[in-house]
Amino acid sequence: MNKTDQYQDIRDAVRDLCAQFPDEYHRKIDAERGYPEAFVDALTKAGWMAALIPQEYGGSGLGLAEASVIMEEINRCGGNSGACHGQMYNMGTLLRHGSPAQKELYLPRIASGEWRLQSMGVTEPSTGTDTTKIKTTAVKKGDRYVVNGQKVWISRVQHSDWMILLARTTPLADVKKKSEGMSIFMVDLRQAEKSGMTVRPIPNMVNHETNELFFENLEIPAENLIGEEGKGFRYILDGLNAERTLIAAECIGDGYWFIDRVSQYVKDRVVFGRPTGQNQGVQFPIAESYIEVEAANLMRWKACALFDAHQPCGAEANMAKYLAAKASWEAANVCLQMHGGFGFACEYDIERKFRETRLYQVAPISTNLILSHVAEHVLGLPRSF
Ligand SMILES: Cc1cc2nc3c(=O)[nH]c(=O)nc-3n(C[C@H](O)[C@H](O)[C@H](O)COP(=O)(O)OP(=O)(O)OC[C@H]3O[C@@H](n4cnc5c(N)ncnc54)[C@H](O)[C@@H]3O)c2cc1C
Repeated sequence: MNKTDQYQDIRDAVRDLCAQFPDEYHRKIDAERGYPEAFVDALTKAGWMAALIPQEYGGSGLGLAEASVIMEEINRCGGNSGACHGQMYNMGTLLRHGSPAQKELYLPRIASGEWRLQSMGVTEPSTGTDTTKIKTTAVKKGDRYVVNGQKVWISRVQHSDWMILLARTTPLADVKKKSEGMSIFMVDLRQAEKSGMTVRPIPNMVNHETNELFFENLEIPAENLIGEEGKGFRYILDGLNAERTLIAAECIGDGYWFIDRVSQYVKDRVVFGRPTGQNQGVQFPIAESYIEVEAANLMRWKACALFDAHQPCGAEANMAKYLAAKASWEAANVCLQMHGGFGFACEYDIERKFRETRLYQVAPISTNLILSHVAEHVLGLPRSF
């Protein structure tokens, strides 16, 4: 599939860069449980990770549509944007809610790649998706906040300089609405590791660097608070539409990768004296997957268009993520199935991409939570939790 669109120049440039990091590169990193440092460096140096940072801060000031094409192409070329997508969208929280001084300090350094802001610490082991119940606290003492608590599944901490941390600054019992009383902070990760934060890596199904974090009297300078105290949960929510849409684009990239691979394979693989792809039992599931990826892609473009026009796009961003994660997973299944035993061989890269794309039904938001968002906020059904 070599369709062209208005973003063809971005596609070609990202593909050229990705071509320097072929399947063997990503396979080796996956086998070693390593981090694609050279790949992420190359993307950063080429400016792709700074796509959404305004030009006045050293970025390229592109829209979400263009940024999503970058993520899509990384995955479509066999890579995994999950290693670096945080660098593209986490800074949006600073951009929208940071003070002028914070923006001046952080954004140019993030744009140049001098600093990585790849991590966002929200999820906790005992509260999961029920974010307003988080137990990590940040208590103001003079010119510092003192943080105690625990986070889980916090990604890229070992390959980031900074993390945005969500913590409770007012106890749940003392706020009118449960979404109030939480705040967000910039945490200097290397500094924190020396003084109150312990990082415990979580080996997992994907080669995704993710960790448990323990905070014991970690002190954060008060100036690292982003925006107003108590409004952090809303600030985090503000960033989710971009995150969901970008991850939808990654899934679209995965979906096309699987369909390209399987379409080629079933043309070449001869069993019972003919290509397996000549059988309708093989063709139809591939065609069905392709239709579903294409349909998901339409919702991704709708979400991008609304976002870039500064229109509400919560429903579309969520629906794009839902459709794309489902379509890429179905394409992964079909690709694996139609490769027979070879689909399980690491050298075909299918089992790796299969694991990678499966994550997106669970993180950064699970499918059920998207369904409940649509039920409640689009269809007006009673709140279920
Ligand atoms: C590899 C990986 C990387 C991650 N990276 C980060 C990160 O960088 N930062 C971060 O903060 N978090 C991160 N996460 C956490 C991720 O966002 C959560 O795992 C996800 O939101 C689900 O939360 P949970 O695991 O606590 O599941 P739970 O909340 O325990 O839910 C488990 C299942 O039950 C379902 N469920 C729960 N409540 C309901 C309900 N009311 N109705 C219907 N279904 C329900 C969920 O949909 C889910 O399928 C990561 C997770 C993984 C696996």
